[in-house]
Amino acid sequence: MAARILAFLFCMAIGGVPGWWFGGFRVGVLGLLAGAIAWAILESLRALKVRRWLRRGDYRTVPRVAGLWGEAADRFRRALLVREKQAAEAEHRLEDFLAALRASPNGVVLLDRQARIEWLNETAAAHLGLDPGRDLQQYIVNLVRDPGFAAFFQETSANQDVVIAGPGSTAARPRKISLRLHPYGEGRMLLLSRDVTAVEQAEHMRRDFVANVSHEIRTPLTVLSGYVETMLNLELPAEERKRYLQTMAQQAQRMQTLVNDLLTLSRLEGSPLPGAAEWTDVAQLLAQCRQEAEAIASALNKKLQLRFAPAPEALVAGAGGELTSALSNLVGNAVRYTPSGGSVDVAATLLPGGRIEFSVKDTGPGVAPEHLPRLTERFYRVDRSRSRETGGTGLGLAIVKHVVQRHGGELKLESTLGAGSSFGFVLPAARVRAAGSTPADSAERPATEPAAG
Ligand code: ADP
Repeated sequence: MAARILAFLFCMAIGGVPGWWFGGFRVGVLGLLAGAIAWAILESLRALKVRRWLRRGDYRTVPRVAGLWGEAADRFRRALLVREKQAAEAEHRLEDFLAALRASPNGVVLLDRQARIEWLNETAAAHLGLDPGRDLQQYIVNLVRDPGFAAFFQETSANQDVVIAGPGSTAARPRKISLRLHPYGEGRMLLLSRDVTAVEQAEHMRRDFVANVSHEIRTPLTVLSGYVETMLNLELPAEERKRYLQTMAQQAQRMQTLVNDLLTLSRLEGSPLPGAAEWTDVAQLLAQCRQEAEAIASALNKKLQLRFAPAPEALVAGAGGELTSALSNLVGNAVRYTPSGGSVDVAATLLPGGRIEFSVKDTGPGVAPEHLPRLTERFYRVDRSRSRETGGTGLGLAIVKHVVQRHGGELKLESTLGAGSSFGFVLPAARVRAAGSTPADSAERPATEPAAG
């Protein structure tokens, strides 16, 4: 400020002093006036320069202007740069935040006070069948037409989840989306969406499973308790007593088989994948299955042609017990379902490329094509009574599927109704070696990991 006053006085002195010196008092006053006017013109020129700079809008290059205007321009530029930096930082933070929301596996929709869409991520768009560009500023209730959603939207205070059918959901392939609303800010809403199809399916399967197990156990249990009660209350002749006890033993055996199969399944699900350290001789595996098949055939009093092809001289890697149980289940089924007079052919064949195929062919009733894809579901049976009569639990093929998957193999189910079935599985080359070779020869081949399922 002092510099400014000095500059002003200096201008006046430059006009006034020579005027007074050469022309006396009056000219001196005129000189002072001329000096003040010159100062004002100079200041206006500086102000004009600053104004031009402001209009140009290029705030990074400050004009070279001396005095107050120069300083004002400089301070203005600095303040602006600070603001610019703050704005850039805020924008960066917002971008990071939105990027995180975009990457979220859950759908996120920001709604304004009127429940119009302000922003949504791709996941939410996919869950709700919306277009992230076109549907902005649209009322969400006009776009999500599920009747459950409108009712849910009215009762946001309940803060509960609602499950609606997702886009493209059909009865055969339902798609379930769970939604939850959270109020935030001043009357705004955050709508979160989650694809719960797999969770709902798992829950559905769990309920079915529990119901099935209960049903399977209840039937023999009812027979057993009925017989126990009869035997407690009645004096039965020895012959009848024996018959009762035989039926009771059968029912107890049925429950035991069921529990064993359930335990096998849960062990298969819970244990680590079988490695390639344990090797089982294919001939031994077939011999054990043969013994079990013959025992089943004689227990069921069946006359079958049970043929086992000569086993290749090979070893298979994995859990020997699991592989034996898988093949035994297939051979057991063939024996149980093929009527007397029929035949069952079991073979292990080395395939080109080093894989091995275990196959069980029978001349039984066969399975209609619509049932084939469901045979490996737990408790799925084509003919319930025939399965039970022959001691089936409905879990055999589910166990086979698990074992084969755990060994990286492929399950093969082929059947023609009325003509017989050919069920088997193929193990990958990494799990097969010739009987004469050492494990080290094949250790270099990586063990194949099974597909999920
Ligand atoms: P189960 O204990 O009832 O035999 P599985 O899981 O082993 O259960 O088999 C499922 C269903 O597949 C059986 O109930 C039966 O209807 C059908 N099935 C399995 N193997 C054969 C076969 N070799 N011939 C005809 N049907 C079969």
